[in-house]
Amino acid sequence: MHASVVVLGGGPGGYAAAFLAADEGLDVAIVESEPRLGGTCLLRGCIPSKALLHVAKVIGEVEELRHEWGVEYSGKPSIDIDAVRARKDKVISNLTGGLGNLAKRRGVKVIQARGTFVSSGELKLEGDHESIPEGGSITFDHCILATGSVPAMPPSFDIGSDRVMDSTGALNLKDIPESLLVIGGGYIGLEMGTVYAHLGSKVSVVELAEGLLPGADRDLVKPLAKKMEALCEGRIYLNTKVGSIGEVDDQVEVTFEGPGKFGHERFDRVLVSVGRRPVTRGLGLENTQVVVNDRGFVECDKQQRTADPKIFAIGDVAGDPMLAHKATHEGRVAAEVIAGKAVEFDKIAIPAVVFTDPEIAWAGLTEEEAKRDGRNVSVEVYPWAASGRAQALNITNGLTKWLVDPETNRVVGCGIVGSGAGELIAEAALAIEMGCEVTDITETVHPHPTLSETLMNAGEVYFGTATEIY
Ligand code: FAD
Repeated sequence: MHASVVVLGGGPGGYAAAFLAADEGLDVAIVESEPRLGGTCLLRGCIPSKALLHVAKVIGEVEELRHEWGVEYSGKPSIDIDAVRARKDKVISNLTGGLGNLAKRRGVKVIQARGTFVSSGELKLEGDHESIPEGGSITFDHCILATGSVPAMPPSFDIGSDRVMDSTGALNLKDIPESLLVIGGGYIGLEMGTVYAHLGSKVSVVELAEGLLPGADRDLVKPLAKKMEALCEGRIYLNTKVGSIGEVDDQVEVTFEGPGKFGHERFDRVLVSVGRRPVTRGLGLENTQVVVNDRGFVECDKQQRTADPKIFAIGDVAGDPMLAHKATHEGRVAAEVIAGKAVEFDKIAIPAVVFTDPEIAWAGLTEEEAKRDGRNVSVEVYPWAASGRAQALNITNGLTKWLVDPETNRVVGCGIVGSGAGELIAEAALAIEMGCEVTDITETVHPHPTLSETLMNAGEVYFGTATEIY
């Protein structure tokens, strides 16, 4: 079998690339080893985690009503874990079923097989599914490599016990353990920790760095760290390393080495969320000219071209940030370049969102990056305590800030912490992408009372015209 474009991997990068290439009139096949399209994002990432976080959010808000607004409900919420799991699985199957139909409608062939390169122009297809063509291989004019990433599991934590989970295990929601240790205070660990804590587990978090969400601006992390401390009843152990873990009497015994915590403790379950590894091993890349860098990512340029003229790379396998919308966008670029269009991806405003309570979001330049690169920026902060909407919603711990280039008055970065930050950041991404000046934001009429006004207000801070209460 031959196709003009073969996409290896059916995640958000891969299926977006395949659909767009088909829309461009190319003959396309997707090779995906799993029975369903969707990849990490749909099957064991973004979507199931957000479905569970929705349940956690509602439980948290009900608790807040009880404590802060005097609305009483009788007793604690009772949770039917099977129903929660079933609902989450239904969301996944709705979305993956839709993808199958979209592929069919465009004439994209979906081959369920594990693909490995035998040369720069051919993939060997392993498996026993009827979609595998006779001869067990497919040749192509171009291949888009979209094999994504998998959770990193350090060998010392890989003790062969189902009490030690990665993010996929945690999303399976086998039970609600009485106690759960989250190793790693990055976004995946904090999102899953939030879910389990609201479902009733006693959650602890251990992080090697001196703060949660290493790499994010500290002023954005502060309100979240405070809320996590309360949710975990103080069991956030910073600057602390996990020495060893082992199964003892149906529990996991963990050794801590650090100022945050020292000594042993036992937990019913442990979630290891210490990062993700790009999938490049065992793909036969040595039979191509593709270059993998020392961090395991495939090297590619702004058009997603690798060092092999026939092969493009997109998504998690092609470098940071490992985010679904970045994968999708790279997929579009690769498909359009193959179709002969002169496009490239200039990564100036890829938004990042942490779906915790409160949410954290940023786009463009961060303060940490500006400091590291010695860039002169003006930082304009509007605290949500001054927002009427935030007061009404009792979410005054948030803030919105713009990073402005004082030479051009252009917005170059934005950071938001607070409820709905993930939705609000889209306006900032558009503004940065379009090269807006601060006046473009402040002279745009924003609806009142909404949290979106805080973007306008933070712009007004730049001119010294922001009102103290809005
Ligand atoms: P993947 O989605 O990883 O897909 C790769 C596909 O390739 C897989 O289906 C795999 O089976 C297939 N494959 C690999 N090797 C082969 C082979 N040899 N042959 C055939 N098929 C192969 N991102 C966000 O933007 N927002 C979020 O809120 C978010 N939340 C997340 C929560 C969790 C718990 C996790 C784990 C991730 C989350 N992510 C989120 C990250 C997001 O899921 C990834 O960035 C995204 O899925 C990457 O897309 P991709 O297409 O590059 O690869």
